[in-house]
Amino acid sequence: MPAENFLPVVVVNSRAVARLRAGHPWIYRSDVVSAEGASPGALVEVKNERGRFLGSAFYSTASEIALRLLSPATIEKLAELVRERIRNAVEYRRNVVRDTDAYRVVFSEADELPGLIVDRYNDVLVLEALTQATDDGELKKAVVAELVEEFAPAGIVERAEPRIRQLEKLPPSDGGLLYGGKTETTFTMNGVRFHHRALTGQKTGAFLDQRENYAAAAACAHGDALDVFCYQGGFALHLARVCRRVTAVDSSRPALEQAEQNAALNPGLPEIEWIEANAFDLLKDYAAAGRQYDTIVLDPPAFARSRRALQTALRGYKELNLRALKMLRPGGILVTCSCSYHVGEGEFVGMLASAAVDAHRFVRILEKRGQSRDHPVVLTVPETSYLKCVIAVVSR
Ligand code: SAH
Repeated sequence: MPAENFLPVVVVNSRAVARLRAGHPWIYRSDVVSAEGASPGALVEVKNERGRFLGSAFYSTASEIALRLLSPATIEKLAELVRERIRNAVEYRRNVVRDTDAYRVVFSEADELPGLIVDRYNDVLVLEALTQATDDGELKKAVVAELVEEFAPAGIVERAEPRIRQLEKLPPSDGGLLYGGKTETTFTMNGVRFHHRALTGQKTGAFLDQRENYAAAAACAHGDALDVFCYQGGFALHLARVCRRVTAVDSSRPALEQAEQNAALNPGLPEIEWIEANAFDLLKDYAAAGRQYDTIVLDPPAFARSRRALQTALRGYKELNLRALKMLRPGGILVTCSCSYHVGEGEFVGMLASAAVDAHRFVRILEKRGQSRDHPVVLTVPETSYLKCVIAVVSR
């Protein structure tokens, strides 16, 4: 075979070998010994320092995560492997996803497709390429072809996250339509309807990872409810189905406008009060004014973007939770979330305990929850688990 048919070889040290053996697909740049001829985003063969083959991986010339393992075997046809993995991902969701036409179809490492995210919103699919390898045109073509076969969607839209593209040294991109003509639709989760505009909004458009937590929150919510960091109304609209009154707060005007439009899609709900404010200031003012609630949801953005930010993040979470606990009536429900991977469940629950002590409240945990099952957690890849959602009852 001519030499050009061979894949580039990346040699890694014994620390990388140990990581792979423990079931983790990432190899850091500091554990790469040599990567001759490996271009940005290339499919490469990974070998140890004695030349033993360890697997096939995607290579990045920019990220600290230099290699993401795709398979312990050699890969003959990448496009076919990718299509097979997408079929598996779709099949997995068929078994675990209920009561929704919106869910994550492909969750990167958790579906053995590192660097690729695909979300489904009814008849519109949203794709995001997070690495040099998955940004490749040929690879995206294979992804789109398989998605069309599985879902026959009305549109497939690519979203580009500028910060991630910068980190991967990818050229700026606005994303856009990859297939079909539709970029806006409506979708339904747990019987609640939402608008989706694939080319605007945060993340890939909605917080699908909270879908099962919306239902769990609604199952114990009651009375007067406050949804803090409401975004487009995910929790608020679910609470409105069971609560007497709902107030929802966010600092983003566009998010609140979208939330109001979502509310209009769901006739028969009590009126929701949408408030544009800084959540920290508002909680402080409401607490000082002696306002009381029966249900409070706290779902802030990730406070800890790195392990170094942990202590500051915990202080932020504690301030919010302390104020919320003080405002809950006896029998009140607190639904408190953290989507910071760097804040572990133990640390989060510890923070909540300390807030309960300071608030002089007797708090019991009803449920410790995580992300919805369409965002599966791989046992050997802790980074796939990031969302914490504690539902607690404040008895006195
Ligand atoms: N609960 C939402 C997701 C929340 S995402 C859902 O389930 O859909 C976090 C939200 O916090 C974003 O909408 C962002 O606009 C908002 N936000 C960030 N900082 C804020 C602040 N200081 N005060 C109020 N809202 C804030």
